[in-house]
Amino acid sequence: MAGVLDRAIVRMLPAVPKPVVRAISSRYIAGAKVEDACRVVGELNDAGKMATLDVLGEDHDSAEQARSVVRDYDEVFDVIEREGLDSNVSVKLTALGLKLSYELCLENVEAVVRHAAESGNFVRIDMEDSSCTTDTLHIYRELRERGYDNVGVVLQARLRRTIRDIRALADLRPNVRLCKGIYLEPPLIAYQGYQEVRDSFVEALEILLRGGSYVGIATHDEWLIEQGLARVAGLGREEYELQMLLGVRELRADRLVREGHRLRVYVPFGKHWYAYSLRRLQENPKIAGYIASDTFGRLFGPNGR
Ligand SMILES: Cc1cc2nc3c(=O)[nH]c(=O)nc-3n(C[C@H](O)[C@H](O)[C@H](O)COP(=O)(O)OP(=O)(O)OC[C@H]3O[C@@H](n4cnc5c(N)ncnc54)[C@H](O)[C@@H]3O)c2cc1C
Repeated sequence: MAGVLDRAIVRMLPAVPKPVVRAISSRYIAGAKVEDACRVVGELNDAGKMATLDVLGEDHDSAEQARSVVRDYDEVFDVIEREGLDSNVSVKLTALGLKLSYELCLENVEAVVRHAAESGNFVRIDMEDSSCTTDTLHIYRELRERGYDNVGVVLQARLRRTIRDIRALADLRPNVRLCKGIYLEPPLIAYQGYQEVRDSFVEALEILLRGGSYVGIATHDEWLIEQGLARVAGLGREEYELQMLLGVRELRADRLVREGHRLRVYVPFGKHWYAYSLRRLQENPKIAGYIASDTFGRLFGPNGR
């Protein structure tokens, strides 16, 4: 029933006036400009939270557009340095040209990682849908083999291949953001059950920690947060982090910070905010359901955050 409702919300979205979408998405997106992002990250830092900045992009259909994303990130590193912000960056390889050419994308992402290295910063390569997984992991390996240690990757518990991928990456002791995976994938390659995905998350986390990886535990799922905290209990504060999306479960995030954990918030911003909002919601209608119930919860009473 909830699924039907979520899909109905998504079908209605293009008919929702842009200012309304902006008002709803402003909780989850820092704004259109780098100054907006800077302000939001400053506020998060004041509240004891770290950030990762993501320049919202679209799949680019020209090499020049993909290169312009590298320049967007140059600006982000300059702002982070100038303002003394505690933030790294997240990049999407399709925005850097992955669907145009592997070589072009590698060249672009290397330019971003090189700039990060020069300013003592770090780049997280987001994971996109399953058509990108193999290339993304190849590019990650290639960057590490070229000597860049300031780069990490994302693995999705939803995918059946993830445990194999962790084993294949073990020699690199990868820095991993572990998440469920937002893209709905077919049963042949992805777990479908809610608990199955959670179990895969816990198994992946255990193998990564045993292998000495630094893990960003990226979830808002209370059960998984508890499982994650139990598994990092013996580690030092600097040896792991928790991660959440901007605008989601902020009170829980505050509590984690008060309890002494390091927490990083994913902060998307950029001029493509509208297309991005629609696309994310269409990729996984459940998210539309969360946002709708969260918005109504805020309007009409306590919402269980
Ligand atoms: C920092 C970070 C980075 C991520 N990077 C990637 C990535 O690179 N690739 C990728 O495929 N996925 C990424 N994701 C998304 C992730 O894969 C999940 O789709 C998303 O986090 C929802 O799963 P969950 O573990 O929070 O559990 P869920 O069971 O989906 O959510 C638990 C509860 O959290 C709340 N909630 C969750 N998401 C939202 C939301 N968007 N808005 C409002 N409430 C919400 C709801 O109350 C829900 O009941 C990332 C997530 C985070 C936190």
